[in-house]
Amino acid sequence: MIVELISVGTEILLGNIVNTNAAFLSEKCAALGLSVYYQVSVGDNYQRLYNTIKTAFDRSDIVIMTGGLGPTNDDITKRVAADVLGKNMYLDEEIKNDIYSYLKNGPYSFIPESNYSQAYVPEGAIVLKNSNGTAPGLIMEKDDKAIIMLPGPPKELKLMFEKQVEPYLRKKSDCVICSETVKIASVGESQAAEIIKDILDSQTNPTIAPYAKLAEVHLRITAKATDENKAKEMINPVVEELKKRFKEDIFSMDETEELEDAVVKLLMKNNLKLSTAESCTGGKIASRLINVSGVSSVYEKGFVTYSDMAKSDLLGVNPEIISEYGVVSKETAIEMATKTAMLTKTDAAISVTGIAGPDGGTQATPVGTVFVGCYLKGKVTVQEFHFSGNRENVRENAAKRALNILRLRILKEL
Ligand code: ATP
Repeated sequence: MIVELISVGTEILLGNIVNTNAAFLSEKCAALGLSVYYQVSVGDNYQRLYNTIKTAFDRSDIVIMTGGLGPTNDDITKRVAADVLGKNMYLDEEIKNDIYSYLKNGPYSFIPESNYSQAYVPEGAIVLKNSNGTAPGLIMEKDDKAIIMLPGPPKELKLMFEKQVEPYLRKKSDCVICSETVKIASVGESQAAEIIKDILDSQTNPTIAPYAKLAEVHLRITAKATDENKAKEMINPVVEELKKRFKEDIFSMDETEELEDAVVKLLMKNNLKLSTAESCTGGKIASRLINVSGVSSVYEKGFVTYSDMAKSDLLGVNPEIISEYGVVSKETAIEMATKTAMLTKTDAAISVTGIAGPDGGTQATPVGTVFVGCYLKGKVTVQEFHFSGNRENVRENAAKRALNILRLRILKEL
């Protein structure tokens, strides 16, 4: 079943808004086993919109349109779609009443007549109720094909799609697509692809798609089957194989779980307290940890010690170490982690010192050099990194790598 998405609105063409509706709908269609072959954006111009809908209806089975259902003169989507299919419009009294009920409790002293233009629908169309706004959605069917029109505001569109369009499309699709995501840290995208090269080379269904994220790689396994259970049965052995190959580099299988969630879970499970001392990451590790609800039971203190003096004054780093080895050095990172753990009496401490750039690099210590110290139960380790990219990239990478170092140490050592 071929699907085409048409996003209507000059704002999209001008780059004033990001087309998040298309991303949402594409993902939903894929999950329903529908193939989105085309995505088109078009402005609020009668002739161009007419041609776009006509082309889409000729080459696709289902056309899903978003936007242009509002009450103003430039909202022409349903009129043009009705013209393409040769349908007349009529005033639907039920929709008119719904619009009145929705607006009468609103902040306006009167309801503009233009709002009722939204109550006009093409003959024979299925009306989709809008519980988040006034513009109803519509489905027009012809020759076993359909044009589905949805409002532009994402909040209205999402609810309408999930509650009313998804059940409609599910009936039309003869298969489902299910996905599972395996999240990996400490392995790059090309390394990950190398580790599973044999699988990638021979895959048909399920398939694995690697996605590179900052300091992470996600492997998305997707199976197409007649029902959800069958798809899951096809995905499970692939997941098991990935677990064998990537072992503890896998930090999560949960779409919503971040690296810091995995770290906090481990700290809780092992009853460990953590403190942090950050220089170039400037609190990014602390901020990530504090994103996790309930972290206060394991996260003790976070220091941002950017200057040399702060490292000595706040953490008790020996100034001689800084002057002898440099502030961005293994020795300073070790000293920062150890002193932080002593000072806060915690089982674990992470330290970061580095040069985020764009200035400040030297030949010996170029921009992107970062040392991460990790104290865990009396033993301190240090790791050196050379990150590329801009200041933000270096800092984000450093924060995530630091969290992952602690995660791996807890898993391997405790
Ligand atoms: P309304 O009843 O609010 O006029 P509408 O169906 O006519 O809704 P538009 O007027 O085209 O929709 O868009 C309304 C708002 O919805 C836009 O200003 C924008 O914020 C959001 N929007 C529209 N299309 C998209 C899109 N493709 N992706 C994300 N947001 C969108």
